[in-house]
Amino acid sequence: MTELLTVDGTQSALSQRYSSALMNTFGAPKRVLVRGEGAYLWDADGNKYLDLLGGLAVNCLGHAHPFVVSAVTSQLATLGHVSNFFASAPQIALAEKLLGLFDAPGKVFFTNSGTEANEAAFKITRRTGRTKIVSTVGAFHGRSMGALAVTWKPAYRELFAPLPGDVEFVPYGDAEALAAAVDDETAAVVLEPIQGENGVVVPPAGYLQAARRITSEHGALLWIDEIQTGIGRTGTWFAFEAEGITPDLVTVAKGLGAGIPIGACIGLGAAADLLQPGNHGTTFGGNPVAAIAGLAVLTVIERDGLLAQVNAVGNHLASSIIALDHRLIAGVRGRGLLLAIELTQPVSDQVAQLALEAGFVINNPIPNALRLAPPYILSKADADSFVAALPGLLDQVEAG
Ligand SMILES: *Cc1c(COP(=O)(O)O)cnc(C)c1O
Repeated sequence: MTELLTVDGTQSALSQRYSSALMNTFGAPKRVLVRGEGAYLWDADGNKYLDLLGGLAVNCLGHAHPFVVSAVTSQLATLGHVSNFFASAPQIALAEKLLGLFDAPGKVFFTNSGTEANEAAFKITRRTGRTKIVSTVGAFHGRSMGALAVTWKPAYRELFAPLPGDVEFVPYGDAEALAAAVDDETAAVVLEPIQGENGVVVPPAGYLQAARRITSEHGALLWIDEIQTGIGRTGTWFAFEAEGITPDLVTVAKGLGAGIPIGACIGLGAAADLLQPGNHGTTFGGNPVAAIAGLAVLTVIERDGLLAQVNAVGNHLASSIIALDHRLIAGVRGRGLLLAIELTQPVSDQVAQLALEAGFVINNPIPNALRLAPPYILSKADADSFVAALPGLLDQVEAG
């Protein structure tokens, strides 16, 4: 598309233009990127990076996956958008395919992002006739006002008060605290099966089962936020499967479109019918191009046996990092290809910066942990190249 856009310029020139033209919500960009292919990225100065963050757990099939590119381009050339007064085949097929991943009947509401999937779920909880929601300390559910109301971090919330009300926070992973907070007035409990933004925090075994039992006892909905963990990221379609439960509401987004914006709120059982005509809406949600991307992603994960690959490469990566036995590494937590390297010192921003300079995109969600959320197509050899470089990166931190 050279008629539209010429990427002429060095990173520093482009970064300057970025800062003048875009609102300063994300701070200065780390790099200006121009191209991606498979697990690799290139910046405007021609440097190459191994992408171990995957657009923040989004690019599950890597960059420019041929099956996704072909599905999206041919759909766009056929039917790009219709209003929700009309239906399209991709939207119907994706809803059916998603529902086929659950062991209970349900229905889908499509959105364009994670936070919107949670907004839909939030509104569904109000249709129970109750208003109280129990969330958890450390939770991240998005930045729009409803999703923010169930998000923990005071720095994200405080400037925007008042948020939609009746939300109580209990310690994450503590089934007793949950049991004490939930009563017959509770509309829903919202939980991430693994807290991603909080640094890949894995709750004790049995926590989701306890949450299922507690919510069922009080007639409250169990709303599981799989926006980061879902669509194969942890080696099963959804992370909650590890505990054999069936939630009432499941929200997904990030991995679903492999880079095309799409999210979904899935209602299972009776929760599928709480929204009635006029209760909610969206202009873009379920757009044919976004829906075909979702269909392509689910199809490729199945066709190429990627859940097994997520488990194999994830376990390999975790055990190789632990085997480094480095003084700055306290351990590895997470599951599949959502991993955190726990550090013995709060130096994650320095390590992430050094890694970037060495050609690896990783992330520092909290000061004492690094996050890896690479594409499912990551090869063992690519994973090994990062593990081989890691001790040298950590040694530079110590020297500094
Ligand atoms: C990323 C994320 C969200 C928000 O998704 P957006 O697409 O950024 O709005 C919500 N919940 C969880 C668990 C997430 O990781």
